[in-house]
Amino acid sequence: MRKQKKRGFTLIELIVVVAILVALLLILVPRLTGFTSTAAEVQCQQTRQKVMEMYNAYQIKGEPVSIEDLLKNKDDEYFISTPKCASGGKLTAIEIKGVVTLIRCSKHGSISSGNLDYTPKGIQSAMLEFMKFLTEQKKTNRDIIRELTGNSVLNNDAIRNFMKNEIYGGSWPTLDNGIVNAANLPKGDYKIQICYRHVTDPNVENPYNNPVPENTIIYASTIQGGNWNTSLIYNQDDNKWYSGKSLVINGKTWTEVKTLMEEKGWKPVEYSE
Ligand SMILES: [Zn+2]
Repeated sequence: MRKQKKRGFTLIELIVVVAILVALLLILVPRLTGFTSTAAEVQCQQTRQKVMEMYNAYQIKGEPVSIEDLLKNKDDEYFISTPKCASGGKLTAIEIKGVVTLIRCSKHGSISSGNLDYTPKGIQSAMLEFMKFLTEQKKTNRDIIRELTGNSVLNNDAIRNFMKNEIYGGSWPTLDNGIVNAANLPKGDYKIQICYRHVTDPNVENPYNNPVPENTIIYASTIQGGNWNTSLIYNQDDNKWYSGKSLVINGKTWTEVKTLMEEKGWKPVEYSE
């Protein structure tokens, strides 16, 4: 075999290599920073997913454990190490009775146990149960409303934001397009939403103290927040969608809205799946 002559780098080659490395670093460094935070988010998401899977597994097994115990890894019984968020977010369990179980990271949001009810009545009951949950939790944790909704007091916007972003994953449930077509409304992505009666009058009892269906309006709109004009409202009494000349729903009870719908000649949407 012919022996190859060994040879080092010339100065020019070294300069070129160093220049290339510097150029690569300039590109890679900023991208890596972004990647690290994405990786932490993925880690956190997977951790929450694992805890949720374990929670579901115990339920299926017929030996339900509380999600708090799983999160705390009580007695080191469930995981090799205690579940953590890589970005130092605080993990909390939120169990809204009969509606949903959430594992929430204060930095990365929630994952839900699934099995959500996307019917208008199901969404309405989710809001009412969530409000009852907050009222109950407030007795032991005065900051619960701020922690979950970012708002210091309970109001319609705060509850709606939590429901949209954390329970429904960023967007309210979608209304069947067939209903929109049957109602002769402009095409679009209509979302089923709940508006809770907000009252600022000190002479009226604060409706947030007593969450009841009468204070909720179930409606559909292509706009997901802050627009209280709608042409599509779900009648809670006969369980049908109604449509008519657009009306403003905020600050009103269901009885008041129903009266307005009658006055404006709203009609049920004739549609069957
Ligand atoms: Zn996290």
